[in-house]
This record gives sequence, structure tokens and C-alpha cells, in this order.
Amino acid sequence: MGSDLQFGYAAWRRQFLDDRVREVPADAPPEHLLQVIWQHQRLVPEKLKLSDGQCVQILHPGFCSLEGGPDFRNAVIRIGKSEAIRGDIEIDVETSGWRTHGHDRNPSFCNTILRVVWQKQRTSEDVVLPMKPALDSSLSSLAKWAIAQPLGDLPAKLRGACCAPLTGAGADKLAMVLNDAAHVRLEAKGDAFKLRATQAGWDQALWEGLFVALGYKHNQWPMRRIAEQLPELPVRSRSPLRWQAMLLGLSGLLPAELPSEDRKSKYLRELWQIWWRVRDAHQERILPGTVWRLSGVRPVNRPERRLGLAAEWLARGKLIEHIEDWISTIHGSPRKAAQALEASLADRGDSFWRSHFTFNSRELSKPGPLLGASRTTDLAINVLLPWLWARARSGRNRGLMKRIEQHYFNWPKAADNSVLKLARQRLFGSGSLKPFKTAASQQGLLQIVRDFCVHTDSLCTDCPFPDYVRAVQ
Ligand code: SF4
Repeated sequence: MGSDLQFGYAAWRRQFLDDRVREVPADAPPEHLLQVIWQHQRLVPEKLKLSDGQCVQILHPGFCSLEGGPDFRNAVIRIGKSEAIRGDIEIDVETSGWRTHGHDRNPSFCNTILRVVWQKQRTSEDVVLPMKPALDSSLSSLAKWAIAQPLGDLPAKLRGACCAPLTGAGADKLAMVLNDAAHVRLEAKGDAFKLRATQAGWDQALWEGLFVALGYKHNQWPMRRIAEQLPELPVRSRSPLRWQAMLLGLSGLLPAELPSEDRKSKYLRELWQIWWRVRDAHQERILPGTVWRLSGVRPVNRPERRLGLAAEWLARGKLIEHIEDWISTIHGSPRKAAQALEASLADRGDSFWRSHFTFNSRELSKPGPLLGASRTTDLAINVLLPWLWARARSGRNRGLMKRIEQHYFNWPKAADNSVLKLARQRLFGSGSLKPFKTAASQQGLLQIVRDFCVHTDSLCTDCPFPDYVRAVQ
């Protein structure tokens, strides 16, 4: 019975793979297949030749980019007998893809050191690396093999030099290394808050940190610019609408055109009625719309919504006191502490932004809160706990520092992301989340990447971290 099933499975799989492979056109295989072949370097090194005849050595193929831009980042290659160079690799099926996809005009591609194509077009003068003559097996067998190779999973031979000592270390030693690195990160963030506090005061330093965190990775700078202007704003109102009018007006995101009569229009008219009276006085502070990066931003993370939430916090007037109360009175599990913080930062529920992603988007059938558990964790780990800790340290309040550290080291883990995923694969040889049960362990991993990986190349040249891991008792 078992062997029948096994035979059935094997036959079915063979049929499935044959069908899939038959769909791969030999003159233009899908880009995804070329990327997998590149990532695993299923190429004969001696056959790698640029279209101008120069030999290329691939010292490291780079790390698969999951966030747009060139396909592989931080590759290390040598062309002819020249020095090794480091940069990005772009893979296109056809030579013309570089221009038709707009890569030649896109600044994200300016660090591209090698363009790889399936085969060079005869009419093109571009210098590219054709992949077809260098395959180490037939295209059909590579296509079958590639089905079981998820793009983004790091091949074993590309793991970091610290992978062996880290995976050989016991759980206690690993936790100690990650916690030590996480403490360094807490201190570094605390130091940055302290420095800003000496220039602008503790409250202002916190507001700037909160705004930056609400900008996510794409819009941190314009959010910081708005926060820097808070002390100059004459608003002392408890009305979220007034604050929204000010913040959205300063952001340059307020639409100039009023749409027809509907709820969106009502909200916009109310904002404009407040904003037009003060707009001229703030003309020089208004950000140009071009500073915002809106493409690629998830609708729930749109800056208009984040400014809507920040306006609610400002209107409450006592956010900082609430946060101080929260840290001195919370008891119970880390999860309860996180829930209590989420509740105190949550919007009050009647905001326009609960049911809209943008000014012009359709009203959502299911309105949702402006802040979820995952963003609360980011705010706690990156802003609130480091800020509270730095203030406690300035005041030499060791008891409070200890209390804050306890929360920091036990805080539930944050959402996963592509930086953490690559770091886990590079340092630990797998995407496993097992050693990363807390947000601090994730912070420790990010700190190691910042302290070591970014200062060397993808080959880990001269990185002292593996020796450190071996030496830790
Ligand atoms: S650069 Fe250092 S820390 Fe980063 S993966 Fe290589 S050995 Fe590990």
C-alpha cells in the first residue's frame, strides 16, 4: 500500500514537473528561473564571459533583493584582471529589458555593476553577461531543479563565516550574545534621544522619535521635519481636527481640489476651513509633495493616516504623562504590558482615517484602528523604551532603568521583515524563528548586522565576529 502510494506520488510529481518544464520557452526562460540559477550559481565559472569578451569571476552573487530595485545586492565580482568590485546585479531576460523596464533612469539601479541576460541581442552594443552559454546543465533539468528552490533562501555555501560558531553555540550562549547586542542598541538609541534632548528638550525629542517611527522606512524624513516644527505651531487646541488641519496642511498632502458633496468632501472642507486661515503664516514651512514617497507604501501605512493619529495624540495633550504612568504602574506579563500600551496609544475611534486610506479612497466597509499590535511594538522598542531609559539614566534612577530593561528584554517579538530574514539565513543558516522569541533578540540581530555585516563585504572579509562568538564563554 505504502509503496503504491509512493509510486503514485513519484509518478504524479514527474508528470507535474514535466508539464511545468514544457512550459519554459528555450529562447526566453522566465526571469524568475534566471534569478534562481544566478542565486545558486548553476553556471560554469570558466564559461562566464561578458559580451565584449572579458572574463568575469563571481566571488559572491549577492543577496536576493525582495524590496524592488536590482535583483541582487552586494555582489562581489572581478572583471578581467582588475580589482574585485562590489555592487548590485540586475537580471533581465533580454538586453533591452534594462531600458524598457526603466532601469537606466531609476536611481535605485545606479550601483549596478553587472547586467546579466539570457542571451545577448545581436543588435545591442551594451556590455552584458549572457547566461545561456554558461549553464552547468540543460535548461530543462535546471527548470525542474529550480521548482524546489525558493528564491530568497540563501544557498548553504553563501552563509556567513559566523554561521558555524553561532549554530554550534548552545542556547544560553546564543541568548547572551543577542541580549548583549540588544543592550548596545538600547544604549545607542538612548544616547541619540539624550543628545536631542540637550538641544530641544526631552518632550520634543520624544515627539520627533514618534513621528519618525510613524514614517516607517520610506517617509521618516518628512515626518521628522513636521515634528521639528511642533514648538513653532501656535495650536494649543484639544481638537484633533485642528491638529489634523495643521499637520496635513504642513505636510503638503492636503488636496487643493475639493471633491463633490460627500463625507470625504465634508472632512476636507472642515480641514480647509481651519487651514486657509493660517496657511499664509506657515507658507515657508509647508513641505513640497515631492518629499513624500507614496509608491510602494501599504495603504494602511499612508502618511495621511499616520498624521491623523499623531494629531489625536497631540490633541490629548497628556500623552507623555500617560506613557510615564504606564511604565511606572504596569504589572503582569509582557503581553499585558504591550496591550496596555496599545490601548493608551489607540485612536478614539471616530476618525475619518479609520475608514479611509487616502482623501480620495472609497470608504472602507470595515473601519479599522489606526494603530495595531505590530506598530505598537515598533514604537515601544525603537522609541518609547529607549527614551524612557535614557531619561531614567540621566536622572540616575537605577530602579526605573532596571524596570524598563525588563520590559525591553521581554517584549513580544515584532513582525518579521526581509532584513531580519536575510540576517537569520546568513548568520544562522536558516529562516528559523526559534532563537528569536522576543523583540530584543531581533534587535540584537539587527545590531550585529549593523556592527559587522555592513562594514565588510558579502564574503565576510576580515570580520572579527566569528572569533568573538568562539571566544564567548
Ligand atoms: S560579516 Fe561577520 S557578522 Fe556578518 S555574516 Fe559575515 S561573519 Fe557574520
